[in-house]
Amino acid sequence: MTFNQAGENKISELKFIVDQNVGKLAKWLRIMGYDTLFFDSGDDSRMVARALAEGRVILSRDTGIMKRRLITSGRLKAILINSYEPEQQMQQLIDTLNLDCQFRPFTLCLECNQPLVERSPDQVKDRVPPHVFQTQHQYMECPACHRIYWRGTHWEAMTRRLQRFMNKTTDLEK
Ligand SMILES: [Zn+2]
Repeated sequence: MTFNQAGENKISELKFIVDQNVGKLAKWLRIMGYDTLFFDSGDDSRMVARALAEGRVILSRDTGIMKRRLITSGRLKAILINSYEPEQQMQQLIDTLNLDCQFRPFTLCLECNQPLVERSPDQVKDRVPPHVFQTQHQYMECPACHRIYWRGTHWEAMTRRLQRFMNKTTDLEK
């Protein structure tokens, strides 16, 4: 079996822009560490221009966008998401792009898409609930919204769900 290093690199550089009709995908992709913009202005042309300028893959349920020349010609990559249901949308993406659920977990703010900065327990002591402070030793902070992240139960649950998507994909390939 040959290991395609170039292909691997390409996948790790994937960046996305998600249309408001598939907005929930932004959070999932950010959990995995994929740079993902949420586009909510409703103006398709601006979304397409931004995707082109920043090299982002467009994710949308809008068939109209897929008919644009930039996309049909292959200059701009876009994926038409089939399902209304967020988990199925995520499954489609993982299957189509061979996404890595363990890509860079816990590196981006789920709200602002900003790279998180590591913080020591002392630095966050007064900003997290006491029970969290007693049990968690690794913290990250968003430089934009100053939200503090830690690997708590919510994060673990989401990671487990992602892992399930991935396992399903592997099962299909067998
Ligand atoms: Zn933030």
